[in-house]
This record gives sequence, C-alpha cells and structure tokens, in this order.
Amino acid sequence: MRAPDHARFRPHTVPPLAPLPREPDVVVVGAGAAGIAAARRLRARGLSVAVLEARDRVGGRTFTTTLRGHAVDLGAHWLHAGPINPLVAFGVARGEPLRRAAQESHLMVGRRKGRPDEAAAYGRAFALADRAMTGGAGRDGPDRPAAFALPPGLGPWGRRVALVHGLVSGRPLAEVSLHDFPSMEYGDNFFIAGGYGAYLARLARALPITLGAPVRVIDWSGAGVAVDVGGRGRIRARAVLVTAPMMVLQDEAAFRFSPPLPPGIRAAIDGFLPGIYEHVVLHWPSAPFRGRDRLAGLTGGRRQPPGLLTRVDGTAFHYFELDRPMTAALDAAGAGPDGARRLTRAVLTDHVGSGRLGDLAIPAVSEWRLDPWSRGSWAVVPPGHAPARDALKEPVGERIWFAGEALSRRQWGTAGGAYEEGERAAEAIAAALAGSRAGEAKRAREPRDPLSRAGEG
Ligand SMILES: Cc1cc2nc3c(=O)[nH]c(=O)nc-3n(C[C@H](O)[C@H](O)[C@H](O)COP(=O)(O)OP(=O)(O)OC[C@H]3O[C@@H](n4cnc5c(N)ncnc54)[C@H](O)[C@@H]3O)c2cc1C
Repeated sequence: MRAPDHARFRPHTVPPLAPLPREPDVVVVGAGAAGIAAARRLRARGLSVAVLEARDRVGGRTFTTTLRGHAVDLGAHWLHAGPINPLVAFGVARGEPLRRAAQESHLMVGRRKGRPDEAAAYGRAFALADRAMTGGAGRDGPDRPAAFALPPGLGPWGRRVALVHGLVSGRPLAEVSLHDFPSMEYGDNFFIAGGYGAYLARLARALPITLGAPVRVIDWSGAGVAVDVGGRGRIRARAVLVTAPMMVLQDEAAFRFSPPLPPGIRAAIDGFLPGIYEHVVLHWPSAPFRGRDRLAGLTGGRRQPPGLLTRVDGTAFHYFELDRPMTAALDAAGAGPDGARRLTRAVLTDHVGSGRLGDLAIPAVSEWRLDPWSRGSWAVVPPGHAPARDALKEPVGERIWFAGEALSRRQWGTAGGAYEEGERAAEAIAAALAGSRAGEAKRAREPRDPLSRAGEG
C-alpha cells in the first residue's frame, strides 16, 4: 500500500515527551485523543504508564500541520457537541483559544446564490429529517438502516439531506444503524485557533510516550500482560488499554492477541465498518464566499459536493470534503491524491465556472482510509451492530481494556468522544488495579497456607 498523502506533512506542534517507566502499571496502546486522555488520568490516579505509539507523532486522527504559514488540520477540526465535549470544558478551563462555530452558512443553487425561501426550505428539511432519525419512534423498533427513517416529503432537498448525513456518518445512510444514529448536538460546535491536533499535542506534553513503537502482539496468557513492540522487544504491565482504531484491530495479521480475544469481543470489533471522510484542502483567496468558518451548500449542478467549509479561521483555506462514494470511485480508478484534486476542480467548475479558479491551489489531500494506523476516519456501526460500543467497555480477563471514539455512544466518531472514553477507561483501570492491589496486600498479610497453622505448636 502506498503512503497516504497526509503522512508527508510534519506536525505543527511537537510536545516534549518523558521516557517510559521501567515497570509500568499500565501500557496504553496509541497516543491519539483516547490514549492521551487515559495517560493523563491514570497518572493523576497515581499509576505509572507507558504509552506506545506506532507513528512518529502524537495525536492520531487529530493532526495539525503548517501550510503557507498557517496551522491547518488534516484530521479532526470541529469540536463537536460543545455542551458534552470534555475537550471544550477543559479548553475553557485552560484558557485555550476556542471560538463558537458560526451558525450562518452559504447556499448556492447551480451557479446562483440560493434565495431566502430556498434557504428556509433547506433548513426545514434538515430539521424534519433530524427529528425523524433521532426521535424515539425510530429507536424503539428493530434496528434498520438510518435511510429508512428519512421522512417522505422532504421535497427536492431530500437527496441533499441524505448526502450530508451520509458524509458526517462516514457511510451512506443505507449502511448505517438507525439505533446508533447520533442524537448529539451538532448545532453547538467550536473551533480552536491553531488547530485541534495542536491542542491534543499540547495535552500530550511531558507524558511518557514512545513514538515509532507499533504494537504487534498482546500476550495475556500469564499474569498481567506482555506487549510486543515490532522489532523493539516487549514490555510487561499489570494491564493494557488498547486505543488503536477498530479497523486496525480487525487485521489480526497486524495486531494479535494471544490467546485470542473471547468470540463476543472479537465479533464486536469485526462488525464495525470503516467510516470515510477526507479533506481536500483548498487555498483559494478569491473564493466567492464571505465570512469566517461558514459551511457552503453547493446544490443543483451536475455534481454536488457533500461538504464545504469555507474561509477556515478567516484565512484563504477551505475544506472540500470527500465522502465514501466519492473515495470509492477514486480508489477504484486508482486515481490517487491528484485524482482527488482533479475531481475537486471539476465539481467547483460546475458551480462557479473555471474563470473563478485562477488562484486555487490544493496543497493537501487526506487519505486516512489508506493509512495503516487508522484505515478509516472513524468506526461506523451497521444496522444490528449497535450494542458493540458498550460490549467493548467490559474488560477482558481483568487486564485488557479498550477505549477510543468507537466506544462512545453519544459522541462516536469524534475526538471529544475518544477523549471521554479514554478518561472512562482510565478510571475503570484505576479502580480495578486498586482493588487487586488491596487484595494482594491483604493476602500478603495473611499466613500463606491457613491450614498449616492448625498443626503448629
Ligand atoms: C478527515 C477527518 C476529519 C475528522 N473531523 C472530525 C471533526 O471535525 N471533529 C471530531 O471530533 N472528529 C473528527 N474526526 C474523527 C476524529 O479524528 C477521531 O474520532 C478521533 O481523533 C479518534 O481518536 P482515537 O484516540 O479514538 O483514535 P486515534 O486518533 O486514531 O488514535 C489511535 C492511535 O493509535 C495508534 N496506533 C494504531 N495502531 C497502533 C499499534 N499497532 N501500535 C501502537 N499504536 C497504534 C495510532 O497511530 C493513533 O495515534 C475526523 C477524522 C478524520 C479522519
């Protein structure tokens, strides 16, 4: 597999890291949002931690690089679900440069600006669809594809609504579980100046993390765990927290448990589908969109882009988003990142005319689906698989825990959800290890073999 295009960029923020302890209580696999959250929380609970990260940088699917002197996210960019996202509350407490996302957006119909009545109808269609998909009725019966819950009568906007929801779900709605459809508050989002990846990198500062350390095998055949790092030996610990993406764990040739995981846990991991959402990063000073951080709905026309975020952070950068059907077509044609660039130009030409693209440059294209350490943008639950997120919260053999975006019920597919899950797992591990340490101490105080005392004296 060729290297994904985004992997050639360097991180904007490189935090200083601490060396690993010799005998950690807990090994954390992965230094993305979940791993960083867990390491911070475990240390706060007095446990020693060793974080093993396969890549040569921290942050996982949050990744800020520098393009033309600006910090630009190549992964997560929105701090979604403000009221319940721990990274928003923590960011406010730390004085991080957060700003609320604009509610205003642009609407284009073909090559003209949408009229107010069209914008109102568009907004109503979204509100109707959201109510139908997140309301109780859809969730009470047996699970179905989320597409079945789209109400009739959305009129000409129905296709657009399905397209946008398919993008933010990671797959077309026909492939997504209705029971799992997020009821999260999309309307109250934040951005952070300097990038989401740079924020997570700041949170990794001084943590004991080793980079370039891909875990290959977790051996839990004896007491505790022995974690094999490709070519660099093994490290033993009392417990392990695995935050590698589900799509990575699905490949047992690359990541193995010995003995194998119980069948229920294996089935929970294997049932997720890779969610696809990719950025084509535009630098386009003369783009016909005014205002900072506004979504643009380009409708009508022959081809509709499912997502476009304009004038990111008030700059000349914009995100043109690719969804699963678009990347599937590009990959089937072997088109590579330049194929994505050509497609983007063709779609924009449809909507604004080629004369307006004179100063358009496309400095970066993300390809998380081809990245061996992510293999997708997030994990999608197909119909019938909704219980998997909670099933994975149970520890295996009291020494293997899982965390990451895929385990979050309310904020799946997000960095905030991953962070919350990392903290949850850390608390569970701390409680379990404290319990087992208390048990060990009690056993140490007791005579080794209570029966032997009967014969004494
Ligand atoms: C293009 C794109 C846009 C997105 N937009 C948003 C957004 O706007 N807002 C939002 O909240 N979310 C967004 N997301 C999703 C968000 O990035 C993820 O949900 C979140 O970052 C996942 O965090 P995590 O800790 O669960 O996993 P990851 O960030 O993937 O962390 C797991 C870590 O494990 C490492 N790893 C993997 N295998 C191994 C191994 N064998 N050994 C050691 N380490 C290993 C990986 O390198 C990685 O660092 C987006 C994702 C993408 C790709």
